[in-house]
Amino acid sequence: MSREARRLSRDLPSGIVLLGPPGAGKGTQAALLAARLGLKHISTGEILREEVQQGTELGKKARAYMDRGELVPDELMIEMLDSRLDGRFLLDGFPRTTNQAEALERIAKVERVLSIRLSEEETVRRLTARRVCADCGRNYNLVSNPPRVPGVCDACGGRLIQRDDDTPEVIRRRYRVYEAQTAPLREFYRQRGLLVEVEGGRAIEEVFQEALRLLEEGR
Ligand code: AMP
Repeated sequence: MSREARRLSRDLPSGIVLLGPPGAGKGTQAALLAARLGLKHISTGEILREEVQQGTELGKKARAYMDRGELVPDELMIEMLDSRLDGRFLLDGFPRTTNQAEALERIAKVERVLSIRLSEEETVRRLTARRVCADCGRNYNLVSNPPRVPGVCDACGGRLIQRDDDTPEVIRRRYRVYEAQTAPLREFYRQRGLLVEVEGGRAIEEVFQEALRLLEEGR
């Protein structure tokens, strides 16, 4: 069925949106929540990194913005998402601007929005210790969530690397971009009665349990 026909029949993809500054644990919580709630995990940052690695047209356009810690232009992001959104989703990293949030309302039904809070200092501390599996994308933290064998992914045996944008200077830029452009979406979704919030500076399991409770409440 075409997107337009689905829009008319109201049979739109539906799901949950995660908001939060870099390092708040969106990727980690998204993977846990998607598995528990049976949702398709869509990480726009992850998709972009794959596009960059494969050297696609989109990857070439996106790379410079990502390396600087800035947002990739809305038109590119909205088009990219529209072609991948389907069924029941959990969105991690989208929307990041009001423009993207308005576009999302036209192509999907957002059922709940979970915002994970984290301070700038904690963001920098966490992300400088972050390592990511080059093969499966799983995240680790050398301090709070280290792999069993240094440098090797527990899940798939892949090599752990540091993301190009996880340098202190770029991390601070990404935090400010979040505050300026994405944090206003909390108010956007609060007004629609969709927002729930958790404090992200705690153990993964604690955040996960509270997130589950909040997402399941009032459904
Ligand atoms: P993330 O993995 O979510 O931290 O995203 C890494 C980078 O990808 C961001 O710093 C942006 O440059 C870009 N990016 C990811 N999602 C979006 C989005 N929805 N809008 C614009 N840029 C994005």
